Amino acid sequence: MPFAVTHVLLAIIAVDLYRDYFAKHKKYFTLHTVFIAGFAGLLPDIDIPLNWILNLFGAEIVHRTITHTPLFGLIFLIPAFILWSYKKHKIALYFFVTTFGILLHLFLDYTFVVDAAGGIMFFYPFSTAVYGLNLLQNVSVNMFAAMDAAILLLWLWHEEMKHKISDFI
Ligand SMILES: [Zn+2]
Repeated sequence: MPFAVTHVLLAIIAVDLYRDYFAKHKKYFTLHTVFIAGFAGLLPDIDIPLNWILNLFGAEIVHRTITHTPLFGLIFLIPAFILWSYKKHKIALYFFVTTFGILLHLFLDYTFVVDAAGGIMFFYPFSTAVYGLNLLQNVSVNMFAAMDAAILLLWLWHEEMKHKISDFI
């Protein structure tokens, strides 16, 4: 059960590392891009706060259904490619990282969700079959919190080193 923080953190770190080491056009990546990636990393869980509102009207979206499908993530590729073809590279990238953040979220839930749901419905609403690896099944919640802290510290260390190094080149 990755925490909200884990989703945000891993999406930001992945995009930041991609920018640092793989991106050919770094100038297309701004702080906004990284922020949006973090936001998208958490976006599938929008069904939770959405339900607080829907419940007032006696409606509900079941958690980990429509917002936890590859389809939901891939939809953002449409504006991404259109904007890219119009050479709006920076804005196109906002949508590319949105797709990435959502798919990363699905991957994490697929791999680690250990509550009663036991995974995600990749093909919802066409199928309600649940897929999940349930790794770290016997790991306590404290362990997840510790992992978040470790991930954050490692990344801060990386940023520190990277920036120190880039001061000299
Ligand atoms: Zn989720």
